[in-house]
Amino acid sequence: MALVVAKFGGSSVATAERIKNVASRLVRRHNAGNQVVCVVSAMGDNTDHLLDLAHSVNPNPSAREMDMLLSTGEQVSVAVLAMAVQALGVPAVSHTGAQVGIVTDESYTAAKIGAIVGVERLRKDLDEGNIVVVAGFQGINEAGEITTLGRGGSDTTAVALAAAVGADYCEIYSDVDGVYTADPRICPKAHRIERLSYDEMLELSANGAGVLQLRAVEFASKYGVVIHARSTFLPDSKGTIIEEAPDRMDTNYSEGVVISGIAHDLSEAKITMRHVPDRSGIAATIFTRLGEMGVNVDIIIQDVSHDGLTDISFTTPMDDVEHITGTVSEICREIGGEGVEINTHIAKVSLVGAGMKSYPGVAAKMFRTLADAKINISMISTSPICISTVVDADECAHAVQALHTAFGLDSEEEENNVKVVR
Ligand code: ADP
Ligand code: ASP
Ligand code: MG
Repeated sequence: MALVVAKFGGSSVATAERIKNVASRLVRRHNAGNQVVCVVSAMGDNTDHLLDLAHSVNPNPSAREMDMLLSTGEQVSVAVLAMAVQALGVPAVSHTGAQVGIVTDESYTAAKIGAIVGVERLRKDLDEGNIVVVAGFQGINEAGEITTLGRGGSDTTAVALAAAVGADYCEIYSDVDGVYTADPRICPKAHRIERLSYDEMLELSANGAGVLQLRAVEFASKYGVVIHARSTFLPDSKGTIIEEAPDRMDTNYSEGVVISGIAHDLSEAKITMRHVPDRSGIAATIFTRLGEMGVNVDIIIQDVSHDGLTDISFTTPMDDVEHITGTVSEICREIGGEGVEINTHIAKVSLVGAGMKSYPGVAAKMFRTLADAKINISMISTSPICISTVVDADECAHAVQALHTAFGLDSEEEENNVKVVR
């Protein structure tokens, strides 16, 4: 008998019909003798609708009320899914994050899980023969207030629960049948990857591969939770396994570069402070102030200086731009800069794989490929297993496709291999 945590995302539970489909799958697993914990997201685009609703009554809603509102999306789906399971004659019980003791820090809308204290209750429900359905994306802070874990946070709920209950594995079901060499929506020749290490998946997620939330992969890596990314709609597909040390099919034991995929991210903006003095302490002043505001800064670039002045650019999540614009202009004025430019029409395109740092030719090939495709690169950053470039948002798909081909990732089956079902 296995103990399985299965998480179903918004598209998997978008309608009553789809909820019934998920319920049947859970019941089949349960009837095969497994203990089943199911984590669900809000139905369809409900979280987006709730966000729009909030902003239609207040342009700047308080974070506490936002979490109060957003958490309702998942509360609807857990109750309806539990009812659908019961309709199939199997006992089921639904819980909110608070009811299973998912304790978070204080940061509303982006809370971090600090502990899970409700595992006994969950085990008791399972031992009594229930399928247990838990609301993803939410928790409760020490003060007893409802919090949410950031967009895509149900993945993290699932992995955290899998770790806490000692599940055999954590299945993440979505509209795609695993992790692909690039987002199949923009790269038709992408192919499914059988196995990935946590490190490779961390880089893909960190650079925009939204199929798994970054924090879920971090959590899985920390506690050794094996993730199985699968499709809700294509039950026969094998999906992708993410674990510590994947068995490679290749037994050449070569030291070469292994490219795992191309990731893209359209959710960041580029902020440039123009003509700031090029002297010691300026970068420290800028990024200390931004750090104090909790701003997540990604790629940073400083141009060569002319006449003692330079431009400093950085990327940051688009969602933060409105909230930091005033402060960035203030900092720029204080340090004697000329002004601030904000570009929200950018894409980060990253090549992810092991062994890059030791093979300088990889970066050269990446830049040559983009140049041949007439795509201008405005920023570059490298790490041992990733090279990221920033390009114009309109060039994103073209850049991903060109790199996918250049690095030999194209599927031989061409478009037949693409399996995203909406
Ligand atoms: P859910 O709502 O079920 O959590 P998501 O929309 O968060 O599902 O994740 C699935 C989507 O992730 C896919 O539809 C696909 O467009 C996107 N995606 C981005 N990068 C990748 C990738 N490398 N492999 C597979 N899917 C990807
Ligand atoms: N419903 C939340 C969101 O849309 C959480 C999730 O789906 O994982 O971001
Ligand atoms: Mg998701």
